[in-house]
Amino acid sequence: MEQIMMVDLHSQYQKIKEEIDREIFSVIESTQFINGPSVKTFQDNFKNYIKAKHVITCGNGTDALQIAMMALGLKPGDEVITADFTFVATVEVIALLGLKPVLVDVDSETFTIDIEKLKAAITPKTKAIVPVHLFGQAANMKEIVKIAKQHNLYIIEDTAQAIGAEYTFENDKVKKLGTIGDIGCTSFFPSKNLGCFGDGGAIFTNNDEYAEKLHSIVNHGMKVRYYHDNVGVNSRLDTIQAAILNVKLKYLDNYNMARQNAAEYYNNAFKNFDKLQTPVVQDNSTHCFHQYTLVTKNIDRDKLREYLNSKEIPAMVYYPVPLHLQKAYKDDRYKKGDFPVTEMLSKSVISLPMHTELEKEQQDYIIECVLDFINE
Ligand SMILES: *Cc1c(COP(=O)(O)O)cnc(C)c1O
Repeated sequence: MEQIMMVDLHSQYQKIKEEIDREIFSVIESTQFINGPSVKTFQDNFKNYIKAKHVITCGNGTDALQIAMMALGLKPGDEVITADFTFVATVEVIALLGLKPVLVDVDSETFTIDIEKLKAAITPKTKAIVPVHLFGQAANMKEIVKIAKQHNLYIIEDTAQAIGAEYTFENDKVKKLGTIGDIGCTSFFPSKNLGCFGDGGAIFTNNDEYAEKLHSIVNHGMKVRYYHDNVGVNSRLDTIQAAILNVKLKYLDNYNMARQNAAEYYNNAFKNFDKLQTPVVQDNSTHCFHQYTLVTKNIDRDKLREYLNSKEIPAMVYYPVPLHLQKAYKDDRYKKGDFPVTEMLSKSVISLPMHTELEKEQQDYIIECVLDFINE
């Protein structure tokens, strides 16, 4: 059996090595390292894939979120609502822009923003909601869209972990996550479902006005060279990364399917144990399993993790500390106990190896070790 990895990028690369290497070397030969033709091609390919009117690539997923908030003209003091249980990037850019982060607890089954608590967090100063499609699971977009309309709020979707997942509305209209709100953001960090070989990100929208602003902001706020209309940033997807993504995008649906199959295999093995809560798959959306995350019940999660590690099985805790208890985001408005679901999850979740190259033999071994621990 091959060594088990949390994410096996090496085996994945081996399968497409020839194609990838050819693309990389052709960029090197061209020496058009910045904004070379592959960047434009990737924006077009990605636009077709995700079915958004505009795709603007940028340096990484965190930049994507920041640039989206800048493009919407959010002003210092404006309140932006997001989930307490997520990666720090969202709240980080809210803070950097001088906006006011408003944290909301999550649902214990989907791990995405709790709709009733979201409603309760809205004030006259609220300007935007940033739902996070955590671990590849869709936030409740049907309700979020309703709430946003009712209160005239922007929606910026954090799709860094859910690229390729789909959402079906009541009228049977199907949309890719990230194209439902005003602006969608994603990351091409190597371990994401669509990852490049370094940093990368993208922003998508169907709104022409936002698109123009986004194009300008990623490029120092200029449309005409050396004429700066907006305060911008320098955030670009390298040509080499775009060339790699052009190859990998063709395989994204297969990659997501491999993850879904692996998740189903885990689910079948774990679903009948009271000590494990398996991920839910919702009726109206696909789950693209960026992570396969169990909630442990009445067992010592950290001991389980240590046990798995001792059996050469990596396992991770995403995320061990809720945002409202992080030192950098300490705030008088929040204290321990305010977000009971997030606090419970941060103590009890464990993510098992999940990637496109997982073998049945490896999963059987992982399953056996998890069950050995919980049955002991
Ligand atoms: C990875 C990630 C980001 C940030 O992406 P980077 O490319 O690493 O900057 C933002 N939000 C979520 C939920 C993520 O998982």
